[in-house]
Amino acid sequence: MTPGGETEDLTSEGRHALRSLMRHTAICVLALALAWVPAPSADPTHTNATTTAPLKAQLPVTPLAAPLIFTGGFGERRIGHFHAGFDLGTGSRVGRPVRAPDGGWIERVRTSGVGYGRSIYLRIPDGRTLQFGHLDAFAGPLAAYVRSAQDASGQYEQDLWPSREQFAVRAGEVIAWSGESGAGGPHLHFEIRRGDVAYNPQQAGLAVPDRVPPTLETLTLEALDDSSLVEGRSGPFTLSLSGATIVRAIGRLRATVVSGDRLRRGASRMTPWSVGIEWEGRRTECRFDSVSWATDMPEAEYVYDTGRVWGSKGLMLWSAGGFRPCVMRADAPTDEEAGTIVIRPGDPPRVLQVRARDLGGGVVTRRVVLRPEAPPARAFPGWWRGEESWSGTSAAFASFPGGFLRVIIPVTSEKRPLDLQFGGMARRATRAAGAWCAVFSVSESAAVKTVRLPLATRPAGSAASPTACGGFVWARRDPSGKGFELAVDRGELRVGFAPGALFEDATVLAYSCASREWNDLVPLGAAWQVEPSRHPLRRPARVRLAAPAGASLDRVGIYRLDPGGWQWIGADRESDGGTLAAESRSLGRFALFHDGVAPRVTLRKPPPPRAGPYSRWAIEASVLEQGSGIDARASWLEVDGVRVATEWDPEAGRLRWRPAKPPVRGTHSIVVVAADHAGNETRTRGEFYVGR
Ligand SMILES: [Zn+2]
Repeated sequence: MTPGGETEDLTSEGRHALRSLMRHTAICVLALALAWVPAPSADPTHTNATTTAPLKAQLPVTPLAAPLIFTGGFGERRIGHFHAGFDLGTGSRVGRPVRAPDGGWIERVRTSGVGYGRSIYLRIPDGRTLQFGHLDAFAGPLAAYVRSAQDASGQYEQDLWPSREQFAVRAGEVIAWSGESGAGGPHLHFEIRRGDVAYNPQQAGLAVPDRVPPTLETLTLEALDDSSLVEGRSGPFTLSLSGATIVRAIGRLRATVVSGDRLRRGASRMTPWSVGIEWEGRRTECRFDSVSWATDMPEAEYVYDTGRVWGSKGLMLWSAGGFRPCVMRADAPTDEEAGTIVIRPGDPPRVLQVRARDLGGGVVTRRVVLRPEAPPARAFPGWWRGEESWSGTSAAFASFPGGFLRVIIPVTSEKRPLDLQFGGMARRATRAAGAWCAVFSVSESAAVKTVRLPLATRPAGSAASPTACGGFVWARRDPSGKGFELAVDRGELRVGFAPGALFEDATVLAYSCASREWNDLVPLGAAWQVEPSRHPLRRPARVRLAAPAGASLDRVGIYRLDPGGWQWIGADRESDGGTLAAESRSLGRFALFHDGVAPRVTLRKPPPPRAGPYSRWAIEASVLEQGSGIDARASWLEVDGVRVATEWDPEAGRLRWRPAKPPVRGTHSIVVVAADHAGNETRTRGEFYVGR
């Protein structure tokens, strides 16, 4: 679970229960849909309809008192998934009443320190489920129901499915108070589902005045192979969509578009309902009508560019042959590439149309004229070894179907043109956005086994002596989708990709680099960079790292480098006794570290009890852990000798117990147990006083 991203995190039981519920409801829901909803109008761009139309009846009550403030929209990218609802602002505070938008019954209630925090799933009779996330407290008997389950088990984390009769709800009834539990600051997450499919709330029952059209901000064009260029470069070229533009290009390109939208009040960075391009009469569009929690969520990493192309939250309006994201509609057949822009030598200037639409009818269109330019200079002849070594901290890669790999080396002080060599090929690098880029074609043999390839740079035209070597990468390609393992020479690193783990044919590669101490972590051996680090994964990769010979694996784990530092990802011991394994949802930098430092705990003075519709009194311990991270299941509070249902709040760095009401007046004993993933544990004893 990643703090900072809302995540559904269905448990296996939850998933099972949901599936059986879906089976149970599918027939009557389908009947309702057929009876109530007019058939959607024929849409020639919709070639992959996987979901039925939502139930559109307007909900009689809004979940928060009007006016609603929209701070997050449907379909936006969150880490590892699409945002499946709307975020409603609560004025930076907690405790606003949340009302049932319609009558029904509570079918599910969850408590978690991460993801949606405290959440309610309200079923209404027409088959829709209304979901509310990040709540501060549940109202009435539901609060007592959850509390008794927590007290009986001593566990804060609960996923409960009451029977239909237990918690009937009237339209407009207060069912909870808004909060900031789970991920993010104070706000209400509101979602409308049927079965496992989340629908755009604007289409599925939440009436929203939407009179502000979307905006189109930038277009990025990117060469897809080694014979293509945009404005003379093999790397991405970004232009503002604020005015008329002419772009020179040749070959096969794809487009990434940054667009924004806003509803009546709130953020303007929301993804519009639809963003698309039209080229040579063919349309490719990302349209956010619905997403399935069961099948679609990993595609958010494929659909959005968040560092894969140039680092913005653009929508990539392209997909490889054989795979089409659920939110993409295209004229191209599913087995062909969608959204490829082809410019041939001698073509006349032609128009690429870019369009964004919202559900209020707002449309914005921009036209970009593309005209042909000269194809790239052919490969630089001759075999040589680079005189200027590249650094493991600086090289970056992008992978395209067909075995094409873009190598990116940052521009340092070098003013002269640069040549790049990869494998047996040399290319004159092109310069873009502070980097040298060249696209290479990876050999067919990399589709059969891991190949070791030299990578080097040198100033163009220099007669470098073939002595110094830049470095090596180990590369492997997956044209078949059957799954494979990338393994370096002596097996220090092996990365396993299950069948379908990559969305498309891609080349992955690895190289070693130095590993240094970080906070309480001490490295064991080198780190390994697995590239392209931002390449999207549909399923986790299995990373195996061998420890240096004779090293103890006690309190050692595999870590991945995130923007916030090294994060523990796991420590499964392989049968050879010297290798650890862990699953990772993304590629990037991996290393083994030893963590011998236990969490540091500070007991916080509890606040005086306060009046209100519900108690917010809590006893908390601040936990500082700068190594493997807190293991929530192995950490808790004991009050007066009894283990209590303890929430681990990773964003605040606190262990928290919030009972239904404060303990009786007087002095109470407390024990804080805080354990980290590596197995270090701190037990701190203290006492606290409750006054009145
Ligand atoms: Zn949300």
